[in-house]
Amino acid sequence: MTEEFSYPTRIVFGEGAVRELPEQLARLGMKRPLVLTDRGLASGGVLARVTGPLHEERISYAIIDDVAVDPTLESVEFALGVYRQGGCDGVVSLGGGSPMDTGKAVRLLSSHPPPLAQYDWARDGGRLITHPMPPMVAIPTTAGTGSEANRNLVVSLPETGRKTIISSQSMVPSLALCDPELTYGMPPWLTAGTGMDAMVHSMEALWANRFHPLADGMARKGIELCGKFLVRAVKDGQDREARAGMMIAALAGAAAMQKALGPVHSLAHPLTPVCGLHHGVATAVVLPAVMEFNLDAAAPQLAEIGVALGEPPCGSVDEAAKRAVERVRAMRQEMPIPSRLRDAGVKECQFPLLTEKAFQDTCHLANPRPCAPADLDLMFRASW
Ligand SMILES: [Zn+2]
Repeated sequence: MTEEFSYPTRIVFGEGAVRELPEQLARLGMKRPLVLTDRGLASGGVLARVTGPLHEERISYAIIDDVAVDPTLESVEFALGVYRQGGCDGVVSLGGGSPMDTGKAVRLLSSHPPPLAQYDWARDGGRLITHPMPPMVAIPTTAGTGSEANRNLVVSLPETGRKTIISSQSMVPSLALCDPELTYGMPPWLTAGTGMDAMVHSMEALWANRFHPLADGMARKGIELCGKFLVRAVKDGQDREARAGMMIAALAGAAAMQKALGPVHSLAHPLTPVCGLHHGVATAVVLPAVMEFNLDAAAPQLAEIGVALGEPPCGSVDEAAKRAVERVRAMRQEMPIPSRLRDAGVKECQFPLLTEKAFQDTCHLANPRPCAPADLDLMFRASW
């Protein structure tokens, strides 16, 4: 049996990297991009740092500066309309996961026929993605989602009734333009939520029941960087070393998750549409319950996670695995993140629906210990 993997993303990294945008667009042959961003970035001045160099070089562009949080079919179709009417030939996505995933969906639908639901990864839809796509520059303003460097997009679709993952090698952005300066203004709660998400991407990849030794290396590095820099970045948003470290941690998580994700993401995915939780915050709240569920099945990986986070090595693997869970809980307590689902507004009566949707979400299939609906329900309850 063979396995397929690659690390193809071109990354330009460094403070002030965003000033290179005009030259990078020329390199990609993009003459009129569709710029996608959200309201907060447009009003907070981050957008101006991206459009400023475009104006200086007289590059015209179309823009949507209020991209919906968590893309839906409707928001994607709206963006596609602006792309087509604007005569655009590529996408520049500025922000976290929502502008990135909207940009990827626009690339997909501008080069492939609808409906979007037919490309659902859970139905092996990736095999239908065969045509070349228009170029895309992804400029992250959070350090978490990893969407700037991975092949996935997540969109809520009425046809599937859930957050739907679409995945294809050709959806990897043409360039990730990573400028840590853009994250300096991110508020502590968002730094914490997105940073925990980055760490979870690496952790779930590390314990996933799949073969991808290169991803394992990336995952270890990503976890180590989160252990060093996440709490620091939350406590002092201007800490340059911590901000740069977290941006690399997000890239490492993105590379690692090509191996697989796991039940933290199956549990977190419905928490956003059903209960309104931010994705990163959702992963942070349920993470310890999933680690505890995996204590036997993934003890060596959990032990490694503890060491990567700074725990001193210990003789017993089982003991080291337990310490890793405590280490994650302690980290979370240092950050403005709720420690229980009930504190995040989740109601007990929502568990049946959450469990049903979590089980439909295919991420948990890579977990070293199989997850039945009853297991997922227990993990929700343990996190409540
Ligand atoms: Zn995630």
